[in-house]
Amino acid sequence: MKKNNEEYRDSRKQWWRNNPEKIKEYNDWTKMHKTHEITQEELNELYNYANHSCMYCGISEEESLTKYSQKLHRDHAINEGSNKIDNCILACRGCNVSKRDKDWEQWYVPTNPRYDQGRYRVIMEWLNNFQ
Ligand SMILES: [Zn+2]
Repeated sequence: MKKNNEEYRDSRKQWWRNNPEKIKEYNDWTKMHKTHEITQEELNELYNYANHSCMYCGISEEESLTKYSQKLHRDHAINEGSNKIDNCILACRGCNVSKRDKDWEQWYVPTNPRYDQGRYRVIMEWLNNFQ
């Protein structure tokens, strides 16, 4: 006969109780993987670098809150790239939605109304920091 859900849950609980070292292993694993995410310091650095504004169109976080009711997003410069700071661009919702799943260099071109040469250079410099 199949176990019902409750029995299954109890047996899982029992298993964790009997294997405390597995809990530690699991916690260490999640801790280890968290370090691959962006730290608060890195995010602060990005904010300072971007002058607290969208790196693509230049609107400030305040303007972003007024216009989109959202703070600035963390955009992936290379869509399929890393989740780390080396692939992270500060972008407003409008730019993020417009860019969708493109890589930033395919989308951030002079014909794009959001394009600005100065900002393009800032983005380049930011990403080159990690090369
Ligand atoms: Zn923007």
